Amino acid sequence: MSRFYIDEIKYVSTRDTEKKELIDSAEAIRRGLAPDGGLYMPVMLPHFGISELSMLSKLSYPERAAFVLRRYLTDYDEDELISMAEAAYSADKFDGVVDKKGVANPTPLRRLSSRDTVMELWHGPTSAFKDMALQLMPRLLSAALEKTGVKGDACILVATSGDTGKAALEGYKDVARTRIMVFYPAEGVSVVQKLQMVTQAGENVCVAGVDGNFDDAQTGVKRIFRDEKVGEALREKGLFFSSANSINWGRLAPQIVYYFSAYCDMASENIIKLGDEIDITVPTGNFGNIFAAYIAAASGLPVGKLICASNTNKVLTDFINDGVYDRRREFFTTISPSMDILISSNLERLLYMLSGPAETTEYMKALSEEGVYKISSKLHKAVLSRFAGYFADEDACRAAIKETYERKHYLCDPHTAVALACAEQYRKENPDEKRKMLIVSTASPYKFAGSVLEAITGQAAKDELSAAAELSALTGTKPPKQLVGLENREVRFPGVISPDEMAEEVIKFAEQ
Ligand SMILES: *Cc1c(COP(=O)(O)O)cnc(C)c1O
Repeated sequence: MSRFYIDEIKYVSTRDTEKKELIDSAEAIRRGLAPDGGLYMPVMLPHFGISELSMLSKLSYPERAAFVLRRYLTDYDEDELISMAEAAYSADKFDGVVDKKGVANPTPLRRLSSRDTVMELWHGPTSAFKDMALQLMPRLLSAALEKTGVKGDACILVATSGDTGKAALEGYKDVARTRIMVFYPAEGVSVVQKLQMVTQAGENVCVAGVDGNFDDAQTGVKRIFRDEKVGEALREKGLFFSSANSINWGRLAPQIVYYFSAYCDMASENIIKLGDEIDITVPTGNFGNIFAAYIAAASGLPVGKLICASNTNKVLTDFINDGVYDRRREFFTTISPSMDILISSNLERLLYMLSGPAETTEYMKALSEEGVYKISSKLHKAVLSRFAGYFADEDACRAAIKETYERKHYLCDPHTAVALACAEQYRKENPDEKRKMLIVSTASPYKFAGSVLEAITGQAAKDELSAAAELSALTGTKPPKQLVGLENREVRFPGVISPDEMAEEVIKFAEQ
């Protein structure tokens, strides 16, 4: 692969008004959150021109990943990025589709119509899109520990409401210089999610149920991070705490890659010509996935509008349309649970890019003190020039699942259905827009088989485990292999503890 001159890129906190501290990407990945509470951002962005897109088109996914990432993570070298990407996106981890050259593509496209193409991001080990980042990030972190000269191994603690915990376990399992411990609320996760976690493989993993809800588990983890006694016990064993949080740049960067990759594939499949602009619709929660698309666009990928799709928790739809972010509202539990969010942390990165650190710091202060902020009209204009915001309520989501299946013969999960419904609204309001649309699909329909089955048949499934079999029989599609036979796997982590016992459990894990 060509090795040409690359501009070195440093990272800065979104709240650092004087650019006091510029650090390498490895340091940003090791730290996660900045000491001032901000998120790390590159001080400038690389630019990809048409000739580079044309060159990328000829590469495999891991090669594309290394090429794109090398331009953002300039303190990592191309060979290490290639070997990390090959390990992260290997065909045995991603049951993606094999391309014309016989190379596995972890992010296959499905063409729904002459206008609409779906990019499936859920062929990884946990059948949801977080695998795309969490398969690579642990390797980036492991290398960052070497680069920054940090002694000891990272001990990752995660409190999960379901999906993130499993994806983190799969990502960190058996990665050098890391250990991971996941706490889940014993009564707060689905049968499938629980089975996925308690049967987890790997030498460096541990899972415990907590007698309580998600907040109890999360509060417990936060307390342990500050607990001196636990910290000391870890240090004695050569360990230190780290988190797998979605605000880490190491989780965001891998997500930029698949937008470049999808664009190249759309050109290869003659859906577009290289250089044509596309619109992209993303089902959004924490604003990570859609922000990665924004970064790709700001780095030269030909993109028109980014359509931010929300469910009934439409705080982002209102923000984009009205310029006011107001979290003081009712929280709804929906059938697209990974988008049930009132604070979209990565939005801070967009505010920073469009307005700078001083304004961003003010908005974030207002959000934490008052729960609301209103952006300047100049900033609002800048947001609207790139983004459009729509939402789909529960009925619209179910209708989209049913219609897409019946009319397009495509089975989609509730998160993807929200995106499809929002893309349709955008089209209705912009009838003259001729750009092709890329719609991001974030989970396998089998991960939410009960809701999908009910949307299609109008009848509730008997239970979650039988819903997958029923859905398969009804549609003639197959569930991903990692979701089959979960109930027959060996349970390695049967324990449920009280919140008070969490610290002790971490110390025991450190001493293993
Ligand atoms: C996490 C998640 C989302 C939301 O992605 P963000 O990056 O948080 O906006 C959407 N769909 C699924 C299935 C997810 O797991």
